[in-house]
Amino acid sequence: MSELILKPKGTNDVLPEESYRWQHLESVLRRAAADFGYREIRFPTFEYTELFVRGVGDTTDVVQKEMFTFTDRGGRSVTLRPEGTASAVRSYLENSLYGAGLPVKVFYIAPNFRGEQPQAGRYREFHQFGVEYLGSPCPAADAEVIGLYSDILDRLCIKNIRLEINSIGCPECRPAFHAALKEYFQSRRDRLCGSCIERMEKNPLRILDCKSPVCGEIAAGSPVGLDHLCGECRDHFEATKAMLDAMGIAYEINPKIVRGLDYYTRTVFEFVSGDLGAQSTVCGGGRYDGLIEALGGQSAPGLGFAAGLERMLLVMDAQGISIPKPEGCRIFIASLGAAADKPAQKLVNDLRKLGVKAERDTMGRGLKAQMKYADRLGAAFSMVIGDNELEKGRANIKDMATGSTFECFLSAEDIKNAVT
Ligand code: ATP
Ligand code: MG
Repeated sequence: MSELILKPKGTNDVLPEESYRWQHLESVLRRAAADFGYREIRFPTFEYTELFVRGVGDTTDVVQKEMFTFTDRGGRSVTLRPEGTASAVRSYLENSLYGAGLPVKVFYIAPNFRGEQPQAGRYREFHQFGVEYLGSPCPAADAEVIGLYSDILDRLCIKNIRLEINSIGCPECRPAFHAALKEYFQSRRDRLCGSCIERMEKNPLRILDCKSPVCGEIAAGSPVGLDHLCGECRDHFEATKAMLDAMGIAYEINPKIVRGLDYYTRTVFEFVSGDLGAQSTVCGGGRYDGLIEALGGQSAPGLGFAAGLERMLLVMDAQGISIPKPEGCRIFIASLGAAADKPAQKLVNDLRKLGVKAERDTMGRGLKAQMKYADRLGAAFSMVIGDNELEKGRANIKDMATGSTFECFLSAEDIKNAVT
C-alpha cells in the first residue's frame, strides 16, 4: 500500500456529518442578504497579485506576510484571494456595475487563503460571508451595513457579541493623526518590532493592528484618532451613531480599532465574541472611500464587512445553538430472494423521483444485515419484498419507531402516501 496523502496544514475538511451545519449557516446568510437587498457576486479564486497589493495595501500583514503568491505559466504573478473586497470592487469596475444606478449592494460567500500560523479559529483556507455597499457616502449606509450583521446574529440566535465602532478619519484629517502617532511611536521606537519600525514611516496606523504583545502594550497609550477627526468626519461619525441608536443597535466606541486593511476611511467596526479565545473577532468591516479610486475607478465611496464562517460556527458551538439536522432515510426497502431484486430497485428509484428519501441495500447483504443497515440509516419506515409480496402485489410497511405494521400496495404513489 502506498502512503496516505494528508490535507495541507491549516486547511479543513467539512465532513458529511457536519456539512448540514454549514448549509444551515449559509442559507440563513443568503436569506438575510436577500431581505436586505443584496445580490450575490461570484469572483475568481485567484487574481493578479497587483490587485491585492493595491487594494489591501502593501503595509498590511496580509500583503507583507500572508499571501499565497505564485507565477503562472505565462510568467505573471497571481495570488490566491486573501479577502473578498478587492475582488468585488475589481469586478464592480471591470463590469461597470455602477452603470445600473447606485448604490450597488452585493454579497459573497467564498474561501480565502492566508499563510498564517494555524490555530483555533485561524486557518490558511477559511470562508467569509461578506457584503459590499458601493456608491453611498451617507451614514445611513454605514448603519444599514452594520444593521445587516446585527440582524444575522439574531437570526442565528447568537448572543454575547459586542459591536465596537470607531472612526479613522479621511485623507483630510489623517495626516495630523499620522503625525501624532509617529511622534508617539518615534520616542518608543527601540521597543517596537521590526515590521512596526517600518510601518512608522509608511503608515503608523498599522502599528495599532500589530499582533505582537509589546507593540500592543505600547499602542494602548497612543494618541486617539477620534481626537483628530475633521469636522466632516466627526459629523459623519455622530450621524452614524445616531442612526444606530434609532435602529436600537447597541455599540461601544473602541478608539483602537483600525482594521487590518489599508483602504478604510471613517467608520470601522468589529463584532467581537465573548465565547472565543484569542480569535474573538467574528466580523470586521468599515468604510473604504479611497478604494475604488485606488483600483482605477472614478472616485466613489463604499463600505462593507466580512465575517468568518468558521468562527461563527465555533461561537454557535460554544453557545450550544442547535441546528436542525436534515431528515434521514424515510423508507428502507429490503429484498428477499433474487426475484425481488429488480422490483425493489425500481420502487426505490420511483420513490426518489417522487421526492421520498428511499434506500435499499447494494452490498449484497442478507435480510438481517439489511435491517441493521436500515437502523444505521435511521429509516423511519421499512418494507420487505420477497416472493410472497410480489405475488400479492402488497407488502407490510413497518413503523420503525413503534414497531406497528400496516399493509400497502407495491406502488411508489401508495407507499409515498403511506409514509409521508
Ligand atoms: P484577525 O485580526 O483575526 O487576523 P483580520 O483583521 O485579519 O482578523 P479580516 O481580514 O478583517 O480579519 O477578515 C474578517 C473576518 O474573517 C475576521 O473577523 C475573521 O472572522 C475571519 N478571518 C480572518 N482571517 C481568518 C483566518 N485566518 N482563519 C479564519 N477566519 C479568519
Ligand atoms: Mg489577520
